[in-house]
Amino acid sequence: MTISITFDPAFDFFLAKSHKEKDLAYPLTRSASVKDIIESLGVPHTEVGRICFNDQDIDFSFIPDTPGKLDIHAVDAPFDVRSPSMLRPEPLDRVRFIVDVNVLKLGRLLILLGFDVAYSSSFSDEQIADLSESESRIVLTRDTTLLKRRKIVFARRIRANLPYDQVVEVVDFFGLRDQTAFFSRCPRCNRPLKKVAKTDILHRLEPKTRKYFFDFFQCPTCGKVFWKGSHYDAMKKTFTSLGLKNPDK
Ligand SMILES: [Zn+2]
Repeated sequence: MTISITFDPAFDFFLAKSHKEKDLAYPLTRSASVKDIIESLGVPHTEVGRICFNDQDIDFSFIPDTPGKLDIHAVDAPFDVRSPSMLRPEPLDRVRFIVDVNVLKLGRLLILLGFDVAYSSSFSDEQIADLSESESRIVLTRDTTLLKRRKIVFARRIRANLPYDQVVEVVDFFGLRDQTAFFSRCPRCNRPLKKVAKTDILHRLEPKTRKYFFDFFQCPTCGKVFWKGSHYDAMKKTFTSLGLKNPDK
């Protein structure tokens, strides 16, 4: 017995050439869930937005046991992780990320844009999956295999090669252009910065910084002090050149 599977063209990134054809004939040799079938063909479940069997919406646990037609649709951008769907009935209450070691620079840039990002060069695949579940975080990675883990519900397999292109990819895929808050978090600790009185940190400032800057921010975790100096201006210029700017509040 076989079923016929059609993947959206958006899945070409993951599929072997022989699987890109329409109406792929898939032999049902064992009772396998739709999740297992899709992933055995190379597509992680996290990239799938909708599945239909004989035109009926189904979820990942569905086990086809009759001949039929399986249509696999990709997640459409912008992907609103705060809306429930058939495949993801429990949405996230806010956007938070965890990045894999292969996209650490992307993670740091997202923090500079103001997003909550857990990152570490020592996270194992298992830790990433566990944290994505326990802290409701979206996984960002270039490792397709990692995304086949059942615990990972929200994710993006990053396509772009360069960190700044990856930032644009993530912001556009999840529809976050109006949610940036540049330099509101400590790039090292991911903690929101707090405003600090200049008089409290005056002794830590270089003479020029003392003279020309008035607004200062401090990380509650590491204590580092930040101000909108030349580094801020340069990064802001780079983000602006990518079309990213803070929404007017
Ligand atoms: Zn810090």
